[in-house]
Amino acid sequence: MTAPLLPPVAGGLRLVVFDWDGTLMDSPLRIVHCLQRAAEALGVEVRDEAALRNIIGLGVDAAVRELYPEADAAFVHRFATAYRACYLEAGDAPPTPLYPGVARLLDWLDAREVLLAVATSKSRRGLDQALEVTGLGARFVATATGDEHPSKPHPAMLEHVMERAGVERTRTRMVGDSVYDLQMARHAGVPAVAVTHGVHSRDRLRAEAPLALQTDLEALLEVFRQAEGVTG
Ligand SMILES: [Mg+2]
Repeated sequence: MTAPLLPPVAGGLRLVVFDWDGTLMDSPLRIVHCLQRAAEALGVEVRDEAALRNIIGLGVDAAVRELYPEADAAFVHRFATAYRACYLEAGDAPPTPLYPGVARLLDWLDAREVLLAVATSKSRRGLDQALEVTGLGARFVATATGDEHPSKPHPAMLEHVMERAGVERTRTRMVGDSVYDLQMARHAGVPAVAVTHGVHSRDRLRAEAPLALQTDLEALLEVFRQAEGVTG
C-alpha cells in the first residue's frame, strides 16, 4: 500500500476551510488585470504580473501598502475602491471559472459529513457575488472575508470560521494557494495543505512546511482518500 501523504486526524476530519481566489476559483488573472487597471486609474506605476501575483492573497488594503509603501490612507482607499469596481463590474476582465474538481472534492467531503468553510481576502460583496454565480453558497457553514477581519496572515478569519462551525483546530484543515494562507493557518494552530495551481510557486509554499503540497484539487482529493483509508 502507498504510504499516506496526510497524517491521520485524531477524532476524524471535521472541518475543511478553503481559501477562495487561486484555490477554488481560477481568478488570479482577473485580480492582476484589475490591480493594473486601478493603478492606471490613479496614475501610479503599474506593477508587473510577477510583483502582483506575489501579493495576491493579502487583503486589498495590505496589498496596496506592499505595492506602494509610500501610500497614505486616502490613496489606499481610492486604489481599493477602483480595484473592487473593476473586479465586480468590468466586462473586459478575464473570466473566473472554478478549478476542475471543485464539485467532486466538496461532494466527497460532504458525504463524510465534513463541514466546509471559506476564509478569503475578498470583500464580503465580492465573495457573496462569487458564491451566487457558482451556486456554492449553501455548501459552506461559515465564511470570513478580508473586509471584516484583519488581513492574512493574521489568524482571525480562520478562528472565526472554526468558532462558527464549532470545530476545534485539531480536527480542522486549511487549504490554500498562497504563503499567506499557510502562515495564517500556522498562527491559528491549524494544519494546512497547499495547492500549486494558484499564485505562489511550489518552492515558496514548501518553505512554509504544509502537511501536503498538491498540484490541484483532483490530487488533493486523492490524498484525502488515502488518509481516510488509513484512519478508517
Ligand atoms: Mg488564494
